[in-house]
Amino acid sequence: MERTFVLVKPDGVQRRLIGEIIRRFENKGLKLVGLKLMNISKDRAERHYAIHKGRPFYGDLIQFITSSPSVAMVLEGRDAVKLTRVMMGATKPEDSTPGSIRGDFEIYTGQKLVHGSDSPETARQEIENFFTADELVEYPLCLADWIG
Ligand code: UDP
Ligand code: MG
Repeated sequence: MERTFVLVKPDGVQRRLIGEIIRRFENKGLKLVGLKLMNISKDRAERHYAIHKGRPFYGDLIQFITSSPSVAMVLEGRDAVKLTRVMMGATKPEDSTPGSIRGDFEIYTGQKLVHGSDSPETARQEIENFFTADELVEYPLCLADWIG
């Protein structure tokens, strides 16, 4: 089973979309194995968004992601990385289709409400940046055989 890292970003928390966003992933059949509400430190934010260092929006992005709490989670399931990206919707508002989180809840190039890892390798690094091993919970889901 694949794991991915998802963040309800400060705009999602402020807009009280935490439950809505987690509900979508739960309903789909993904399994929560880590979950926490947190203020992201500048160090952690810089590690998380290191790939965007030097881009024009980088400074604002770090400021934004550290400005107010986020909800960090680890989700597990078949093709979890790709699946959560599809459910999040595209980065560009004009491409984020209705039915996706971004497509349903934002209409301009804002801060995107949610982050999801873009590859299994990125997921591994991002999970390590946000969670210690003992914060990840192993347990069987009794409906697993029915949900997939
Ligand atoms: N971002 C931005 N302006 C841009 C591109 C990205 O403010 O032109 C921010 C936005 O919050 C986005 C994040 O930087 O979610 C990471 O960008 P990326 O291209 O990785 O998009 P994502 O993976 O979040 O869809
Ligand atoms: Mg990205």
